[in-house]
Amino acid sequence: MSVRVRFAPSPTGYLHIGGLRTALYNFLFARHHGGRFVLRIEDTDRTRYVAGSVEDIMESLRWAGIEPDESPIHGGEFGPYVQSERTEIYRHHAQLLLERETAYYAFDTPEELERMRERQQAAGIAPHYDRSSMRNQFTLGPDETRRLLAAGEPATIRLKVPLHGEVKFDDRIRGTIVVPCKDIDDQVLLKSDGFPTYHLANVVDDHLMGITHVIRGEEWLPSTPKHILLYQAFGWEPPEFAHLPLLLNPDRSKLSKRHGDVAVRDYIAKGYFPEAIVNFIALLGWNPSGDRELYTLEELIAAFSLDRVNKAGAVFDLAKLDWMNAQYLKQRVERDLPGLIAQLRPILAQRGWNPDEEYIGRVIVLLHERVHRLPEIAEFGAYMFTLPDYDEEFFRSVWDDSVPVTLEQLKSLIEATEPFTAAALHEQLNRYSREHNIPFRQIGTLLRLAITGKRVGAGMMDTMALLGKAEVLRRIELFRAWSTRYAPGD
Ligand code: GLU
Repeated sequence: MSVRVRFAPSPTGYLHIGGLRTALYNFLFARHHGGRFVLRIEDTDRTRYVAGSVEDIMESLRWAGIEPDESPIHGGEFGPYVQSERTEIYRHHAQLLLERETAYYAFDTPEELERMRERQQAAGIAPHYDRSSMRNQFTLGPDETRRLLAAGEPATIRLKVPLHGEVKFDDRIRGTIVVPCKDIDDQVLLKSDGFPTYHLANVVDDHLMGITHVIRGEEWLPSTPKHILLYQAFGWEPPEFAHLPLLLNPDRSKLSKRHGDVAVRDYIAKGYFPEAIVNFIALLGWNPSGDRELYTLEELIAAFSLDRVNKAGAVFDLAKLDWMNAQYLKQRVERDLPGLIAQLRPILAQRGWNPDEEYIGRVIVLLHERVHRLPEIAEFGAYMFTLPDYDEEFFRSVWDDSVPVTLEQLKSLIEATEPFTAAALHEQLNRYSREHNIPFRQIGTLLRLAITGKRVGAGMMDTMALLGKAEVLRRIELFRAWSTRYAPGD
């Protein structure tokens, strides 16, 4: 039996980072076993539909390199892969269940159901559909049922859950799960408007699409006993189930917007690399053997197994993601500098900076180890593209009466430095430091303040060499002019 798995998102908003992890695990599992990975859009709940979300889901998957083998755009023999285009199939299957007497018609109005819940609440029992007291096929009898249907009375189709016994299944991650039937509600399968509920559409499609393993988030675990009963109601063999651990905020609450970004598109916009995001989320809940942290997609495919997926929730550690992204940034600087230049260029252009490509490349090389994400170079290293802003507080901490003279001397020295390279600058300034008995570090800090306005940055000699002699002299001069306004004691 060849593996077929699916990612079955509902288009209710932008793809969530947890959704991307579910998709990734399915993809890794399929590739590891030489199987197929299906993308199915579960859009039967039209009230929760958000325009643009299908496109966002597909674009995010493509960005991450998680390409489905079958999907609304890739096609495939098991389509259509959009549930709203399959309503006839679900109606037909609801009829099959009626024929098998494992489902039944119910005619209760929303008000009647509400009163039922109130009665149950008053009596202190958990709300559930009370088959024996409500208006359905069993309480009304076959003739009245036929009459109501013929009269066009709104009807739902509900699953006839056994009154006794239990549902038992093995989850690949959570082990054997047993739920007493009395705790399972007679689920609505087909609504009175003829649209299926999630449960019916999901099970019918998993069966018809030949899905062998259902790998999904833990939040779907409570639905699984209902699904098992549905498979039994159809007389079908259920697939294997694997419910992935929750993603958690650092305080161990469920991952939420309040703690940071949750949409994949936010991470894309911030300039995280797909290989970093994929590597990072792969390790959220799954531990390959060994303590390595960096894996290519190919390596993840080779190593992936459901047996090493944890039960416990996985904390989303942004600092770790940043660290990983920085590792991939280093790799890219070595392997694909032109690609990075192409990515940074429009970000700089947005700020009105249009340096040539060679210069952008040299700035990336100079600053990439100081940032986690490429776009940060435009913020952290703004002074490489525009004049610095001076910080008065920093200025006061560096300033003393000797500074104007030192600056003048440094200016002449820099002016005389030829060739204008980091090594030559280093040699000149080192000599100046010894001759004037000023610590080299102190000179560096003063120049950093004058030329970049910052307390930290890349090596000052490299920075000056890249900015060029004319620009360095211009900035020292600007700084000198600026400082006369703030120099203490003036
Ligand atoms: N449509 C469900 C979702 O939005 C699918 C759950 C499942 O994978 O069965 O996540």
